[in-house]
Amino acid sequence: MPRRPADHTRGRAAVLASLTVTALVATGHPAGAAPAEADPMNQAFEQAAEKYGVPRDLLAAVGYGETHLDGHAGRPSQDNGFGVMHLVSNPVNHSLEKAAELTGESTADLRKDTEANILGGAAVLRNHADALGLDPAERADIDAWYPAVARYSGTEGAVAALYADTVYTFLAQGLRATVAGGEQVTVTSRPVSPEKGPLAKADITAKSEDYPSALWVAANSANFATGRTATVDKVVIHVTQGSYAGTISWFQNATSKVSSHYVVRSSDGQITQMVRDKDTAYHAKSANASSLGIEHEGFIDDPSWFTDPMYRSSAALTAYLCDRYGIPKDRSHIIGHSEAPGNDHTDPGANWNWTYYMQLVGSGTGSGADGLSFGSYATQKSGSTGTQVKAAQTLLNKQGYDAGTEDGIFGTRTESAVRAFQTARGLDSDGAVGPRTWTALLSAGTTPTLTTGASGDPVKRLQRALTAALGRTVTVDGAFGANTDKAVRDYQSARGLSADGSVGPDTWKALQAGL
Ligand SMILES: [Zn+2]
Repeated sequence: MPRRPADHTRGRAAVLASLTVTALVATGHPAGAAPAEADPMNQAFEQAAEKYGVPRDLLAAVGYGETHLDGHAGRPSQDNGFGVMHLVSNPVNHSLEKAAELTGESTADLRKDTEANILGGAAVLRNHADALGLDPAERADIDAWYPAVARYSGTEGAVAALYADTVYTFLAQGLRATVAGGEQVTVTSRPVSPEKGPLAKADITAKSEDYPSALWVAANSANFATGRTATVDKVVIHVTQGSYAGTISWFQNATSKVSSHYVVRSSDGQITQMVRDKDTAYHAKSANASSLGIEHEGFIDDPSWFTDPMYRSSAALTAYLCDRYGIPKDRSHIIGHSEAPGNDHTDPGANWNWTYYMQLVGSGTGSGADGLSFGSYATQKSGSTGTQVKAAQTLLNKQGYDAGTEDGIFGTRTESAVRAFQTARGLDSDGAVGPRTWTALLSAGTTPTLTTGASGDPVKRLQRALTAALGRTVTVDGAFGANTDKAVRDYQSARGLSADGSVGPDTWKALQAGL
C-alpha cells in the first residue's frame, strides 16, 4: 500500500510555524529538534495539548501506542479507527463521533487531517478527564490521567488497564518516532507513578493453558467455533492493523466476528492467547479449521512495529506449536495470511522479514546479545569509542534524547544528549557517562515490584543498573535469584534504604536518580 503523502498537513503547518520555538522551549525538548517548518505534527500536539489542557507528552504517548503516529492517509484500522490518534467508529466505541461533537470538525477531516485528528484525540481525552472529575491541579499531573487514558481505549477492566499501562510504559521509557516527512516526535523518559484507582486490581492474571508464558483473555464466543473439523497442520501469520490492546478488545466484541489464537505485542513480545488451540478461531477463512492464527501488533506499511522482541517471542511460540502438533517448520506450513487459499488479505506484507523469522523458528529461541549488558561499565566521555558508547547512545535515543547515530563514537551530539538527560534527572551535568549516569540510564523505565523468583526484562534492567551502581558484576540473566537478592540488599544498605531485598518504589526511585 502507498504511504500517506508527506505534504498532507503542510497548509496548516505554515500558519503555525511561528509558534514552534516557544512551544519547544516550553516543553523542554532537547536541543537539536527539527526546525519549525518541518514540524507539523509536533505543532499539532502542542496546539491540541494547550487547547484542551492535556499534557503534551501524554497525548503523544497515546498516539504512539495506537499508531506509532502514522495516520495511514485516513485508511481505517481493523476496528475502524482513524488517524494518528485512532479515533474509532464501531458499535462499541464512538470516539470519532464524540471528537466531531467536541471540536466541531467534520468526521471526514478527523479521519484524514492529522492536525484535526490530534485535536480530536485531545478533546476526547479531556472529556473523559472531566467526566472523571479531574480538577485543574490533577490535570496538570500526568499520573492523574491514567483512568482517562483507560477510558480512551473504549473498553473496560483488565484490557483498559493493559491499554493505559502501555501508554505509561512509553512515558517511563521515553520514545522517539520518525513520522511523515521525516519529522521526529520525542517524549523523554521520566519516572511515572500512575494513579490507577480501581484499575490497580485489574491486571490480567490468567495464564494460557496451551502456552505457559502467554496471558489468557477469552475472545467472545461469537468469534470462534468450539472444536476442530480438520487436523491442525499450519500456523498463519497475521498483522493486526491496530494496536495490541485494541485487537484484544476487538476480539472480545461480539460484533467483530473475528479472532485469532494468539496476539503478540510489538514493544516487548508479550503474548495473549484468546482462543484455545483445540478451538477454531476466525482468522483465515477456509484455512481456519486446520490452522493456528498468530496476530502481530502493527500496520503492514510501517516497519517500526516489527521489532526484534516481537520476532523472537513469536518465533518461540511458533516453534513450540510446531513441536506440539507435529507441524513441519517450513514455509509450506508456516504461512502468511496473504498466502492462505481464498483470502484477500495482504498481511503480514512486505515489511515482515520471513528469512529472519524462519531462522529464529528453526534455531529455537535464545535471547542473543542485547548490546546493553556488560560485566562492568566504564566512564564514557567526549572522544570515547566502542560498544559501551554505543550502548549509551542506544539508551539515550530510546529514552527520547537525541544522541545521533548509534555508531559507538562519543561526539558532540551524544554529549549534548547526555547533558540533557543529566539535567532532567537532577544529576551533575558534566556530559560524561559515569557510574551515576549509567545507573540512571540503565534503570529507566517502569517500576514493577521485584523480589526473589521474579523474571523477565525488568529483572535484566535491574541487574544492569546494579552492576553500574555497585561497581561489580551482577549477572544479567533475567532471573531474580540469590545473587541478585544479595546485590539488591547490598545496594539498599549502602544507600540507606531498608535492606529487604525487595525492589519497590523507593529502590527504583534511587536507581533512576542515579544514586
Ligand atoms: Zn490477517
